[in-house]
Amino acid sequence: MLRFADCLPILLYDPQKRVIGLGHAGWRGTVGLLAQRLAETMREEFGCHLAQVRAGLGPAIGPCCYAVGEEVREAVQAVLSGSSGAVVERANEVYLDLWEANRWQLRQLGIERIEVGKICTAGNTAEFFSHRAEGERTGRFAVLMLLQSEWDEQ
Ligand SMILES: [Zn+2]
Repeated sequence: MLRFADCLPILLYDPQKRVIGLGHAGWRGTVGLLAQRLAETMREEFGCHLAQVRAGLGPAIGPCCYAVGEEVREAVQAVLSGSSGAVVERANEVYLDLWEANRWQLRQLGIERIEVGKICTAGNTAEFFSHRAEGERTGRFAVLMLLQSEWDEQ
């Protein structure tokens, strides 16, 4: 379980090896290639084949609301391809698309089954917490992953 208020929940699942991985990426985690490191850890530590891994990218602050400064744009462009769709320019402002930035990273590793909810936390504060929209003292919502034991499934 991890807790979120704008950062992106990254959920990975290998149904063959029965391995799950959960990550938490804001812009620093995104430029630190956290999604790729999470997937590579599943491959190296548990023998997962990334082609069979399914991914989910959860609610996060969307490119509709996530205006970022020049330092973030430079950091993203230094690491991710311009074709990733990670940086969106609109009315002289730069916005970061965490979903596209992290989907691009997973695709680079051969993960193709990726579900993206595209629910913006900053625009849906009745259902989610948003650090950007509500300030430092807001809450966090939890993302929980679990593997049922084989006994439970019978
Ligand atoms: Zn939004």
